[in-house]
Amino acid sequence: MNTYKFNTQCVQGTYDPKNGEPRVLPIVQSTTFEYDDSDYVADLFDLKVPGSFYTRIGNPTTGAFEGKMSMLEGGVGALATSSGQSASFMAIANICSAGDHIISSTSIYGGTYNLFDVSLRKLGINVIFIDPDADLADIIACATPQTKAVFAETIANPSMNVLDFEKFSAAAKSLSVPLIIDNTLATPFLCRPFEHGANIVIHSATKYTDGHATSLGGIIIDGGNFNWNNGKFPGLVEPDSSYHGLKYMETFGAAAYIVKARVSLLRDFGCTVSPFNSFMFHLGLETLHLRMERHSENALKLAEFLETHPKVDWVKYPGLKSSSYNTLAKKYLPKGSSGILTFGIKGGATAGKDLIKHLDLVALVVHLGDLRTSILHPASTTHRQLDASKQADAGIYPEMIRVSVGIEDIDDIIKDFDKALKAV
Ligand SMILES: *Cc1c(COP(=O)(O)O)cnc(C)c1O
Repeated sequence: MNTYKFNTQCVQGTYDPKNGEPRVLPIVQSTTFEYDDSDYVADLFDLKVPGSFYTRIGNPTTGAFEGKMSMLEGGVGALATSSGQSASFMAIANICSAGDHIISSTSIYGGTYNLFDVSLRKLGINVIFIDPDADLADIIACATPQTKAVFAETIANPSMNVLDFEKFSAAAKSLSVPLIIDNTLATPFLCRPFEHGANIVIHSATKYTDGHATSLGGIIIDGGNFNWNNGKFPGLVEPDSSYHGLKYMETFGAAAYIVKARVSLLRDFGCTVSPFNSFMFHLGLETLHLRMERHSENALKLAEFLETHPKVDWVKYPGLKSSSYNTLAKKYLPKGSSGILTFGIKGGATAGKDLIKHLDLVALVVHLGDLRTSILHPASTTHRQLDASKQADAGIYPEMIRVSVGIEDIDDIIKDFDKALKAV
């Protein structure tokens, strides 16, 4: 499958049925797997042979989803998790312990911000937030000897910044730490972060991976392109006492990070995705290329319509020529800028709430990446746990409306907005 083009990999990778097997990936809804011989099971436990033995750590349906996502991102392996949140948490926890430190962009999803700013600090992992548009030297200056990772989003939700990969990967390289990228909004169809210096990619699979708003899940993909044996990451190099002294780097080479995340973190924390959800994500990926193309096309048309509307103050969409991120969008998102845009309505939060009431086709939903167009007022919903100054840091303003543009006919979407804007 690796020799096929991206769109073919979406449709047919990596599930490959043998003679007489189901054409469509089966849902293996089983917690356990039967074996003839205790010695074989012992070898499974010792990671000497591959295979499923308990669904908390691995399952064939989930394995097919992981394999496809790893292929689409161009990684060496992937680990599916119960949510995007658990993927972000485990991506960090796999290489950080109490006393360690990470550098994160301020422009990130509100839930990730809380995870880093509140929960990771309680576990003794310190986070410093940096404006993604800061200079390289300022990013590097945030580091301490305990810094273990740099974290950012390809397209930030919902501030709509496009990441300057060249700068962020240069910062991570000069600190000898991995660059961890949340690629949820872009998806590998629009941007493949490993090609721009990222080392680990995570997704909320809940969003465009699923694409139909049915299932919650996340995934971590390992680029296999970071040398963990640089003195900073003893957990990947030194013996793991919970596996009879197994050394991940020595045994698994380029896939050390993702194997450790599975066999130690997923084993211990148990943030496992259900096989049914993995089936839905795998099914969603079969049309990822078609959906992302249409989401991007529709979002650009809606952004252009809103930009000229007298009742709209401003529009943020990286695909717009007027966007300050348009140059970065052209460089890193040549196939389109995804389906999310934000705009400021004249009349502030009150007018925004009024607008939402007058929409028929477009629904008020706490979600994005669905094929149905949806709308949200972030300041009062997804980012309400942040105070006003932290909201501003994350690019959230009171008058700001976020639209997740779907794949309906664009004429109907624009008509709905036009009618609702007139009514405000
Ligand atoms: C939704 C989202 C998450 C969290 O994912 P869940 O699946 O809801 O836990 C993380 N990052 C981004 C960019 C998101 O949009």
